[in-house]
Amino acid sequence: MRFTLRWLAWLCLSLMLWTAVAESTHNHPNKTESASCSICALAHSTTPTASCNHARPVFAAVGLLQEEEVIAKARLSVFELGIRGPPAV
Ligand SMILES: [Zn+2]
Repeated sequence: MRFTLRWLAWLCLSLMLWTAVAESTHNHPNKTESASCSICALAHSTTPTASCNHARPVFAAVGLLQEEEVIAKARLSVFELGIRGPPAV
């Protein structure tokens, strides 16, 4: 199990490394192929514009906290007052 995990980790790392090397060093013989390549189009494009539509937050009360006093009801019965420890020998 441990050998398999280690082997998979090395496989993933090597795939990432080879992908990075392939993306950074690839070239095209003519410009028509580079125009259709997504890596080259992204690399030579102008500043990418952020296109996200953040929804505006809506603040609304979903409920109110209603506090109640909690008073512990402790009672000391007469029987508990009469308990004493064992006699010392
Ligand atoms: Zn390319």
